[in-house]
Amino acid sequence: MARDPRYDILFEPVRIGPVTAKNRFFQVPHCNGMGIIYPSSMIGMRGMKAEGGWAVVCTEETDIHPSGDLSPLAEGRLWDDLDVPVFARMNEAIHKHGALAGVEITHTANRDACLFSREVPVNVTHAPAGEGYYPAQARRMDRADIRNYRRWHREAALRAERAGFDIIYVYVRAYTSINGNFLSRHLNDRSDEYGGSLENRLRLTREVTEDLIEAVGGRCAIAIRWTVDDPIGPDGQPDLAEGREVVERLAELPDLWDINLRDWSRDSMPSRFGPEGSQEEFVRFVKSVTSKPVVGVGRFTSPDTMVSQVRRGILDFIGAARPSIADPFLPKKIEEGRIDDIRECIGCNMCVSSDFTMVPMRCTQNPTAGEEWRKGWHPEKIAPRKSDEAVLIVGAGPAGLEAARALGQRGYEVTLAEARQEVGGRVALESKLPGLATWGRVRDYRLQQIQRMPNLQLYLDSKLGAEDIRGYGFAKVVLATGGHWRRDGVGRARHEAIAGLDKIDVLTPDDIFAGRKAAGPVVIYDDDHYYMGGVLAEKLRLEGFDVTLVTPASDISSWTKFTLEQPLIEQRLHEIGVTVLEKQIVAVARPGELELEHSHHGGRRRIACGALVLVTMRLPNDGVFLELSADLQALEEAGIKSVTRIGDCHAPSTIAAAVYAGHRCAREMDEPEQEIAFRRELIALAPA
Ligand code: ADP
Ligand code: SF4
Repeated sequence: MARDPRYDILFEPVRIGPVTAKNRFFQVPHCNGMGIIYPSSMIGMRGMKAEGGWAVVCTEETDIHPSGDLSPLAEGRLWDDLDVPVFARMNEAIHKHGALAGVEITHTANRDACLFSREVPVNVTHAPAGEGYYPAQARRMDRADIRNYRRWHREAALRAERAGFDIIYVYVRAYTSINGNFLSRHLNDRSDEYGGSLENRLRLTREVTEDLIEAVGGRCAIAIRWTVDDPIGPDGQPDLAEGREVVERLAELPDLWDINLRDWSRDSMPSRFGPEGSQEEFVRFVKSVTSKPVVGVGRFTSPDTMVSQVRRGILDFIGAARPSIADPFLPKKIEEGRIDDIRECIGCNMCVSSDFTMVPMRCTQNPTAGEEWRKGWHPEKIAPRKSDEAVLIVGAGPAGLEAARALGQRGYEVTLAEARQEVGGRVALESKLPGLATWGRVRDYRLQQIQRMPNLQLYLDSKLGAEDIRGYGFAKVVLATGGHWRRDGVGRARHEAIAGLDKIDVLTPDDIFAGRKAAGPVVIYDDDHYYMGGVLAEKLRLEGFDVTLVTPASDISSWTKFTLEQPLIEQRLHEIGVTVLEKQIVAVARPGELELEHSHHGGRRRIACGALVLVTMRLPNDGVFLELSADLQALEEAGIKSVTRIGDCHAPSTIAAAVYAGHRCAREMDEPEQEIAFRRELIALAPA
């Protein structure tokens, strides 16, 4: 198919100083849980984006000196020549497809405590250092330190050039970089020429930028990444006037402006709290102040929104981290007029969690993310079928839908049976919860794809039992029948049922999805710690109930700190008046009340309760699987050669895990089983 001429503007080349990007698609720096710890995986992921048509592909944060050591995070590193080959190989993979490679070199000041190098972190001033209340401090930089810091940047830039990078970043973000901390009037308490006035606070950024231009300018482009709402006014709100003045003062110095937002949870805004393009109000002034190209982000997946950003003069480059993860081939699909094939990011931030947990990135929408090298999974290509045996998939949730889509793509004859009158499983239900509508894209993308496949039959309203399945006699049966929430309070904190549940109205999330109404006051007991407890609290509170959210953890929706949602959830629940009780376990239920136990010191208290919603853990719906696999002879007589369970039916987990399981099932169909189903890479031993 040909490209829609409306989108031609997105494929115009754009000059960035001495280099030229072939189109306007720009993968901005993003972490990925791989970095130099899993280098071949990282390289595979970056190369795939270049193959998918991104004109610029950047690294993650890349530290330049042991006094700004990012460990244990899995990021980039350019301390000395030892670090060059990894990036040289990455850049080869990027250049192969005609894309430019960018590197975000940085020194994170006191954000990290130099846990690997054991150097003393340096910063604009004396300050606590390290994440998670690590008991260390950074020391204030003197003049010699500032000279050294400039030298480290220069040397890192020269190494970056040797590694083949085309674009080198100067990173300016408060709480995350030395440049940003110097610029911040809240963090910079210096009285020398680097403190006080804006020009003084900006001095270091200006010097570093000029140093890099002198060192590699004319060969590499120099970008400034500026967090435009970094300056905070006396009222605690962003001082956008100062944010603008910074751009005005440095306007023509760099070759490119990359604009982002201060708080990561707003920069990578979860879809639950903000729509596509939500940064426009902060970014729109930049192009009126500089003639240099501007890149910005906004979870852009719609080509019309992208065109609108360019035409209205907001951005020159469509910056993306998450949309490029969910669909590395997004630019190619627009170019080839295949808009319906775009796998749109759902804004769940599961990808972000991999940075914190320091494992290869995973994505809810794109099960091949992070698996490009170690499993050889391509996001668009998959091997043709290895047999003519037909496959029955039972259950059309995320696992069943993805298995069906990928098996269909392989050319298998697939029958997908779903008990309900709609597909999507838990996603269909959960996307009706407040703020989660965008998550419905997990279903929409797959449904859209399978509806076009002549080798795929979908049957709704078709609840199948073991007997039915044996009767059909498909050679291969895949059970993707999902899971259900426990009704007894067992979870992480409790290993036995809550006493007295028979004396009180008990609901699970499944009951709420089925439309069962509670009588208030409602207590939600969240021992699951992801989004469900918090989002049900929001839903029920918005319906007018008095809602108390009880959790054994120190924070509500505790795990969502890894998806950047936690502070936003906490704020939302506070605003709408949900009562929050942390470090509390539900110990006993009695008519009209609950007895809670403090999860650390054991102290007891009572609260009123009309209905108790238990969000603790789920159990697999594996009855049909167990029944089928219990009678091997009956299977054989029915002509069934394999029965596989996937997703929540195997073990309840995240939506990302269910999609991955569905994809894996399709990839591994008719393949020999492997105990270790991926390639590994060992760190080469140094000479003894
Ligand atoms: P997963 O996340 O693993 O895909 P879900 O719970 O989201 O799991 O989806 C499971 C789907 O399977 C649901 O749509 C459910 O209605 C369907 N299902 C469960 N049992 C059967 C069955 N016996 N026959 C057909 N469909 C079923
Ligand atoms: Fe988007 Fe979620 Fe994938 Fe991240 S994990 S890229 S937010 S769909």
